[in-house]
Amino acid sequence: MVDVKDVRKRFGDNEVLRGVSVSVEAGEVIAIIGASGSGKSTLLRTINGLETVDSGEISVNGVRVHERKTSREVHQYVGMVFQQFNLFPHLSALDNATLALRKVKKMNREQAREVARSALERVGLADKASAYPQQLSGGQQQRVAIARALSMQPQVMLFDEATSALDPELVGEVTKVMRELAAEGMTMLVVTHEMGFARETADRILYFDNGVIGEEGVPEQIFTDPKNPRLRQFLHRVL
Ligand code: ATP
Ligand code: MG
Repeated sequence: MVDVKDVRKRFGDNEVLRGVSVSVEAGEVIAIIGASGSGKSTLLRTINGLETVDSGEISVNGVRVHERKTSREVHQYVGMVFQQFNLFPHLSALDNATLALRKVKKMNREQAREVARSALERVGLADKASAYPQQLSGGQQQRVAIARALSMQPQVMLFDEATSALDPELVGEVTKVMRELAAEGMTMLVVTHEMGFARETADRILYFDNGVIGEEGVPEQIFTDPKNPRLRQFLHRVL
């Protein structure tokens, strides 16, 4: 479903991705962990077409993402959720979730609203359709952001520290939605500091280390028998 082949990306002198390859099957949930600055967000942003690559290839369901001219095109099949929810403050939850359907998918108003409503329902916010972001808790805003991505009916969902900006008591409602999506068979790449989530929900874990994948494996192996000494240190710090 997602094929990343030997991707390299530099910002000036800083080579942030130094040959990253990963192949994700349909329905697979991949958790990406690693130290700050190791390139986790940059990888997601290249898959979503928000960053170009210097070399290597990325395809999503056979579409060569790195050759696309506009990220807007890529957004039709790759959904992304950010740490900051990035909702439009002047639009209701429903209108936030409708916008891309109208602009990118060229749906008419009624069609778009119907799709967006069912996406809000999926994240448990059917009753908040007409609420504005400032009237919603952080957890609710993030669920609107998830609904907005889902309304495009993406084939893959990317989450970049989707719960990091939330108060601790609000994390659970967002990870619950993410677990449900995973259980429904959504293909997901999830950058997270929530090791509990990674351990329980991911099929596979990638440990990013300074622009390369320092180790990958099933959660059981990564958490109980890490081979890479730097991964061992990392887990020691975060667990
Ligand atoms: P964190 O856990 O802090 O989110 P990360 O693993 O997501 O870290 P990235 O955001 O991918 O790390 O950043 C990797 C490196 O690339 C960092 O050194 C960062 O400063 C640099 N970087 C990222 N985006 C840009 C940019 N647009 N311009 C210049 N440098 C950048
Ligand atoms: Mg990041």
